Amino acid sequence: MTTANSLYDLASYGLPSEAELEKLAARYFPELTPFESEASGADLKTYAPKALGDYEKESAYVSKPSRYGAVGARNIDSIRADFPILNQRLGANQLVWFDNAATTQKPQSVIDRLSYFYAYENSNIHRAAHDLAARATDAYEEARLKTARFLGAPSAESIAFVRGSTEGINLVARSFVKPKLKEGDEIVLTVLEHHANIVPWQIIAQETGALLRVAPVDESGQIILSQYAKLFNSRTKFAAFTHVSNALGTIVPIEALVSIAHSYGVKTLIDAAQSVSHIPLNVAALDADFLVFSGHKIYAPTGIGALYGKRELLEEADVYQGGGNMIADVTFERTIYQKPPAKFEAGTGSIADAAGLGAALDYVSSIGLENIFAYEHALLEYGARELKTVRGLRLIGTADHKTSILSFVIDGFSNERVGKFLNSKGIAVRSGHHCAQPALRNFGLEGSVRPSIAFYNTFEEIDYLIESLRELTRTF
Ligand code: PLP
Repeated sequence: MTTANSLYDLASYGLPSEAELEKLAARYFPELTPFESEASGADLKTYAPKALGDYEKESAYVSKPSRYGAVGARNIDSIRADFPILNQRLGANQLVWFDNAATTQKPQSVIDRLSYFYAYENSNIHRAAHDLAARATDAYEEARLKTARFLGAPSAESIAFVRGSTEGINLVARSFVKPKLKEGDEIVLTVLEHHANIVPWQIIAQETGALLRVAPVDESGQIILSQYAKLFNSRTKFAAFTHVSNALGTIVPIEALVSIAHSYGVKTLIDAAQSVSHIPLNVAALDADFLVFSGHKIYAPTGIGALYGKRELLEEADVYQGGGNMIADVTFERTIYQKPPAKFEAGTGSIADAAGLGAALDYVSSIGLENIFAYEHALLEYGARELKTVRGLRLIGTADHKTSILSFVIDGFSNERVGKFLNSKGIAVRSGHHCAQPALRNFGLEGSVRPSIAFYNTFEEIDYLIESLRELTRTF
């Protein structure tokens, strides 16, 4: 049984006993009888979807008025009610989702958009004369237009759908950069990169004899711009950098990095995987050459993401994969390719997920990214201040400009142990290397514990996190 199993696991980690957990549950969730589902033999009910209104009855957080109760014009409780997954318990505890940097939860409007697609529109796109093909094509192309608008791109044709940031970076590396590389050429990265923005460059560097040059950060985790500029020279062929570090939360001054690269005639790729859901982007104002993001990090489904590229650069790039959709004409002697973005979209894409991405961008736009940033920033500052009061806790990444990520380690506690303890409280955080080993090793670490914030999180959840960490460090 689920509840029994999780208790069993906890005991084997030397974590709180069943009686202690019951005591805590009673404190945080006074209206519940702890483990009643187990007693009744109906533990699956714990995981069954609940009516949205039940959340308020059950949660120790939303039932209290929030100290910062609104994101723009939207009340925080009503925002939370848009996300059905938040309305569940893990064992006796209300789920607290602080793993937003790994993936975000989905609002009902996105879930509904997927259902609607499969109920009324499902078809392959572009290739048929029937009504459903037209509906599916409209849904897909409308999502492209919404993505372009969201990024401030000049046209929908500058957006290619990809599976996510990783695929977008691989595409640019293989199709745009590799054909230009020769032995001794250089690609500039930063120490903050996610593995997805290291490994594709490393592979093409190994294949061509090119070299990677890596910009350092200061002790707060911010890029040292003067050092960055020194990495450029006549051999530099490309520069790729993240907008927000997924391990530290640093907001990188991408305007400056783009303009330094451009002053050397070097094209750039911005990895917006961790910024797209927090910071308004405008690729035209940034003069960005390429930019990638993943839908699932901005409340959209997995399996869909976008690559923005300046039109002339997308035209200049080689094809990525061959197959259906990306061709204009095929004989056994030669193939004529479609123009971008179809040129990069071989095979059947994630059509429903693209429609879901459009719905997610609508949802975020209806709340306003500026409002989201302001609310999340208040949570981040509060969280950082409070975390520092936990005995033995060290925050990793203290740049002046940060968003959404609170990475830390605690003296005497492995990251895994902290993560498992928090899980026993219903709090989901990531512990480990976060696919950013060079960034963490720069701070002498192999991993950290990483709560990451979205605009459906609350101050009460931060308090609960801090209380839980205090309990861990007090008790063990
Ligand atoms: N870049 C950054 C900064 C990320 O945080 C991530 C994922 O966590 C990625 C790239 C890769 O994203 P995906 O796995 O969705 O392709």
